[in-house]
Amino acid sequence: MVTLDKIVQFAKSTGFIYQGSELYGGLANTWDYGPLGSLLKKNVKDAWIQKFQRETEYNVLVDTSILLNTEVWKASGHLGGFSDPLTECKACNQRYRADQLIESFDSNVNADGWSTDQMYDYILEHKVKCPNCGAHDFLPIRKFNMMFETHQGVVKEQADQIYLRPETAQGIFINFKNIQRTTRKKVPFGICQVGKSFRNEITPGNFVFRTREFEQMEMEFFVKPGTELEWFSYWKAFCMDWLLQLGLSAKHLTFDDHKPEALSHYSNATTDIKFEFPWGSDELWGIASRTNFDLNAHQVASSQNLEYLDPETNEKYLPFVIEPSVGVERLILAFLIDAYDEETLESGDIRQVLRLHPKLAPYKVAILPLVKKLHAEKAKEIHKLLSKYFDVVYDETQNIGKRYRRQDAIGTYLCVTVDHDTESLESVTVRNRDTMAQERIQISDLRNYIEEKINY
Ligand code: ATP
Repeated sequence: MVTLDKIVQFAKSTGFIYQGSELYGGLANTWDYGPLGSLLKKNVKDAWIQKFQRETEYNVLVDTSILLNTEVWKASGHLGGFSDPLTECKACNQRYRADQLIESFDSNVNADGWSTDQMYDYILEHKVKCPNCGAHDFLPIRKFNMMFETHQGVVKEQADQIYLRPETAQGIFINFKNIQRTTRKKVPFGICQVGKSFRNEITPGNFVFRTREFEQMEMEFFVKPGTELEWFSYWKAFCMDWLLQLGLSAKHLTFDDHKPEALSHYSNATTDIKFEFPWGSDELWGIASRTNFDLNAHQVASSQNLEYLDPETNEKYLPFVIEPSVGVERLILAFLIDAYDEETLESGDIRQVLRLHPKLAPYKVAILPLVKKLHAEKAKEIHKLLSKYFDVVYDETQNIGKRYRRQDAIGTYLCVTVDHDTESLESVTVRNRDTMAQERIQISDLRNYIEEKINY
């Protein structure tokens, strides 16, 4: 498997991901997505929306606010009891989130849902080592709230303190009634959302795996109580299929079903999809059956009835919910890791090729004039034609072999070359990134041809 350093270097040199604020010496653990990275991000989000919302009969999409009334966070438990467990190495003063420290010590352990006492006992009993200095001594666990604070209003002293959301889910729960009423959806149905979340993580790191600003893709799927475990299995399989369809390797993916004693108090089933990252197996996607915990909490705190009236049975109830929640950047890292390849050709040359699924490839097509002086005009015409439908790139510098290699390395799925026969035959050659095979295609068939090849 490719190393993390290699991926970081590759992402930077090709224009996928740069260090944030680099010009000013950087801002730790922030990352900027360049021309390729922003397209990859867009494609990951599109692929998720396509399969989780557009192509299902059940789901709708929303886009709720990052800033919410503070009462929401009191009701959800984010302000108060739910703060994260912080510990500190006595020798080097490095701070850790206790559950993450335990899980990085032994990736077979899942500390979600453990009490602080359980975590501290584990750290002492198993002589957990500080990843920074190797010492075994840690301070007792304290609670630390990871929500970013800010102020609403012009004069800071008088302004109300508010928070940046640490997850997108609460925006969905507090709109449950609005959405159900306006869409007239019947249970079971789901609400999907893609958006930024913020957590003042104690130990961000591993490139874009854990950052303080990130994007989540979350679905809250509302079901009749009693049917939740069937739906939990359904979405569990659905999430895994989605990853496999998009080209992640089955041997790098596992389910980590939480044992009953490790479940959060409101959950009756939880699993993580774990991916084999270069540093070990780690959480990619959390999927939880959350009962009616969230709707109930908001119903109590807002004194509003959030029950659903079943039109067939006239029963009133608070639906139970299944929540698959995944981070866009973690997915991007996994896709880059599995797609990165250095292939040895028959000639002995090494070909760097990014085997991203065509749906995810930043550019679907590169348009290349064989000889700039002779073919640029026609190539630009084709570029204009195709750019209406696809993300395409035009490249006329250096010889054609080098240009093919450059496109292979950034994952461009097809190369369209305009050559000596293009004018007379109204056709171009199309080269496939993975097989390197070339075909002659009529310009008038090009759009359909590409569409078929990248169909997802
Ligand atoms: P972890 O234990 O890795 O911090 P979590 O269990 O706190 O994750 P959830 O609250 O379940 O995470 O969030 C759901 C998903 O959001 C995670 O599976 C992950 O893909 C993504 N995610 C959470 N925190 C971060 C972060 N700081 N940076 C990037 N992605 C994140």
